[in-house]
Amino acid sequence: MPANRAQAVFEPIPPDIDVPALVEATPNFEFVVRINWAAIEEQGLDNFERLVRLHVVIGGKPLVVEGYDAILEKWIFSERWLRDNYATKTENARNLGTKTNLPLTIGHYLSNMQMLTEQWNLSSFADPNRQRIYLKDIDCPPVWYEKLKEIVPPFLSYLNESTYDTREPLDSNPLGFSSTTGPGIARAGDLMSSLPPDMRAENLMCYIGHEGTYTPCHQEMCGTLGHNIMVEASTGGFEHGKRTKPGSAIWFMTETEDRHLVSEYWSSLLGHDIDLEDHFAQIRAWEAAPFKTYVVEQKVGDFILIPPLAPHQVWNRGTRTMKVAWNRTTVDTLEWALNEALPRAKTVCRDEQYKNKAIIYFTLQRYSKLLSAADENRIDGLKIRQLRKDFRKLFNLFTQVLISETFDDKIPQKKAVEYLPFDSNVTCSYCRCNIFNRFLTCPHCVGNFVNGDEDCYDICMECYARGRSCACISNLKWVEQFPWSELTENHERWWSQILAFSNQDKREEKDRRTALEAELRGLGHRTLAAICQSELRRRPWVDITKPQPDPIDDDVENEEDDERTAKRKKIQRMEKLTKDHGRCHICKTLEPNWKLALCGHCGSNYCYGSLFRAFEMMPQSIMETMRWKCPKCNKICSCGACRRKTTTKPYEPKGLLLGHDTRKVADARSVEALVNFSHSNIGWLKKAGDGSDSTRRLQRHQEEAEMAKIRGAMAGEEDDGIEHANYQGLDSQANVYDGIPIDPALDAMAGQALNNVPSDHLPQVGNQPQQLQAENAMPRFFEDASGIRFEIPVDNPLPSNVPPQEGMSGVEAAPGLPLPMNHMNNNASGSGLGSVNNRPPTSGSFQNGQNRLLVRLKVGRDRIGTLFNRNGDTTGAHRPLPVSHGPIIIESDVAFHNHSAPPAWDQQPKTKRRRGDNDRDYRNRKTPKPRTSDRLEKPRRGGRVNYFEETSDLSDNA
Ligand SMILES: [Zn+2]
Ligand SMILES: [Zn+2]
Ligand SMILES: [Zn+2]
Ligand SMILES: [Zn+2]
Ligand SMILES: [Zn+2]
Repeated sequence: MPANRAQAVFEPIPPDIDVPALVEATPNFEFVVRINWAAIEEQGLDNFERLVRLHVVIGGKPLVVEGYDAILEKWIFSERWLRDNYATKTENARNLGTKTNLPLTIGHYLSNMQMLTEQWNLSSFADPNRQRIYLKDIDCPPVWYEKLKEIVPPFLSYLNESTYDTREPLDSNPLGFSSTTGPGIARAGDLMSSLPPDMRAENLMCYIGHEGTYTPCHQEMCGTLGHNIMVEASTGGFEHGKRTKPGSAIWFMTETEDRHLVSEYWSSLLGHDIDLEDHFAQIRAWEAAPFKTYVVEQKVGDFILIPPLAPHQVWNRGTRTMKVAWNRTTVDTLEWALNEALPRAKTVCRDEQYKNKAIIYFTLQRYSKLLSAADENRIDGLKIRQLRKDFRKLFNLFTQVLISETFDDKIPQKKAVEYLPFDSNVTCSYCRCNIFNRFLTCPHCVGNFVNGDEDCYDICMECYARGRSCACISNLKWVEQFPWSELTENHERWWSQILAFSNQDKREEKDRRTALEAELRGLGHRTLAAICQSELRRRPWVDITKPQPDPIDDDVENEEDDERTAKRKKIQRMEKLTKDHGRCHICKTLEPNWKLALCGHCGSNYCYGSLFRAFEMMPQSIMETMRWKCPKCNKICSCGACRRKTTTKPYEPKGLLLGHDTRKVADARSVEALVNFSHSNIGWLKKAGDGSDSTRRLQRHQEEAEMAKIRGAMAGEEDDGIEHANYQGLDSQANVYDGIPIDPALDAMAGQALNNVPSDHLPQVGNQPQQLQAENAMPRFFEDASGIRFEIPVDNPLPSNVPPQEGMSGVEAAPGLPLPMNHMNNNASGSGLGSVNNRPPTSGSFQNGQNRLLVRLKVGRDRIGTLFNRNGDTTGAHRPLPVSHGPIIIESDVAFHNHSAPPAWDQQPKTKRRRGDNDRDYRNRKTPKPRTSDRLEKPRRGGRVNYFEETSDLSDNA
């Protein structure tokens, strides 16, 4: 992240906020659609399932099912019951202010909730020194799970294996199968259930919070569908002799299709990366946003369905709220995961806990059996047709996985591929994604855990293509977890099954290719495995036991040699350099050839860093292209020389990339050899004339979101047709690509179907983007944005010679930000740009003498102390000042109860990531390993999820 970038601060919500009034008064705020649970009973589950699919999954909008409070068993979902059964259970509560864990018993927490709530009032609610303790991500009592399963629609419940309605009477079919409903053959509502129980990721969790606790803005993991029901809350009545405050939760939610716009708004305007999930946005930031925000005040019995990938944040109110939440994986979410969520998660190195590729494979196995059974028993009907449709979508995803893993036989392999039977626990040492089958491991970097387990350095193919690996860089070895023949034979068998149920003609007799071979032939680019194969040959092996030479230096002088020798050496060196090195067309850096992309047309070299930042090209996309054509040849190069050519139209990056220093998160043995992903692309945005004005970027994202919504609506209509009684059968309409029929709905998503849009679809929806930009969104957006408050992050303190009040002129604001900062007195545009903050400041803001809000520094004791005590002391920002400590209200009671604290999340066998935790929590404290000989026959990876301290004989000091 560039130094001195301003970031929007965390601004607490006052306890007296009137949510309905706020929604009424804010043009881009809207209530979420609510339906009553009784209406589902009335209209039938199949109809409700369709509604969820059209509104939440495809439509991407949130939905609330209300009224469950009428049927929740009050005595089980009660504070009293929890206390009676779990009072002494120890959990790690989260202290949101300090971002640390506080081990305590559930009983201790429940007893202190009133006190924790009492501390907040209209004058204290923004005090950063008070505790916000959130009991989040804790295990859900099994009784609660059982009770919820009885009332929640079965297809929505956690880990459900089938979408049939258990409440309907059994069919008389002797085999227990019925044609449409009833127990029997139907797709699963949560595909996590396809994995063997010990491989599943548990995600049913409870959240117990008091006034002022919150979850920062985030997306559900792996593109899954989120479910959250409030099962209990304080009523406002008396408890333990004291009056409580009624509990509820405020949700700020967005639509799936707006996610890129939301993300760009976050980085461009608020200065935060949404993928890091560590910022709870101010209400003003939501008000000023160029997208629609859905607001829910969730009360007991409100069951919220969260659309996949849609960013949202939650704020708890009152003495106590208790929620139960879970996620479901479906065919749609697997598509999101593979194509969007996982690549993003890899960028920031977020754990993939859901094992998406394994879920695809195991579900195909299960569905294949179900479909055979349906066939044998001549069962047909809506549920079977849905199952077939899902089977084929899963098959397409599996094809995608197999293609990426296919080796190029023409590239010779140095070493044999090692076989390690699949146990679902191999994770990439760099990005921590789950690895389904093939990956690379370093034979030189094997360490030991304390318990004697071997700690291998494993890297996924995507990471290796990006230039991520251990410091050895090359000489890694292939490992696979399934025999390749097993995977390809299953693939072929499932393909035959699809051909059979879609009544398609069998392949022509003379065509002996398998479905996978046919796909590969039409692929048109290199597979990911082939990229890794050739990069392994191209990248040099670094012997990490030897000291590394300094980077190349053009002017080597050696005083001891005579002039002639020196000259000769220099020439030799230059010859070697010209052979092994090249200069980047853009940044002119001399780099070894393996770090450069070579244009297949003009022969120019480009470093991958410049290609990534200036043209948003990932190394993988360049490496997979057969004869790569460079930006210069494509006439989009933005370097100084090309810019001067009239024929060139320099490329403008579409979004602001803040940059991530993933080396902090990745295994300590790691390096990034091709691109330093911690650098931002702000320099290129500025060159493109967009650096100080994010409007264009936001507008572009807005237009794209609108187009995506049109496509989504159309896909929904098609889907609607499919699932209706007048089902035509997809098979007759499916486009066949190279022998594999593709669901037309997928085409629509890929943007091709736009050409076939009936024209009457376009006018009303298509005009929206222009209207939004021209009149409403942008000008208002700037006015409102002037109310958002910013801070300079603590790691980038202000220059000490500049007084804080005026120092802001030297500070780089979030780009595009019409900040009330350096343009303060420069309000000439009249468009609201640089306008003075004319809204009444909430308490806790800091203002200078002219009653203008400047920048609020990081909320933290030192910073606040500094500001309060500054009084004309211009260097105060760097002097340690006396700090008034806030009341420490609750402490851990674990020692008192003689319990041991629960293991931190990263030591639990099934890791649960908590939102808002910072990267430091994930860093495993391992030191680089010295080289060991190839003493390993078969590395074991069973203990990979647990990280232990190193044994001393492997540490640096040994
Ligand atoms: Zn990886
Ligand atoms: Zn290594
Ligand atoms: Zn370069
Ligand atoms: Zn070229
Ligand atoms: Zn150029």
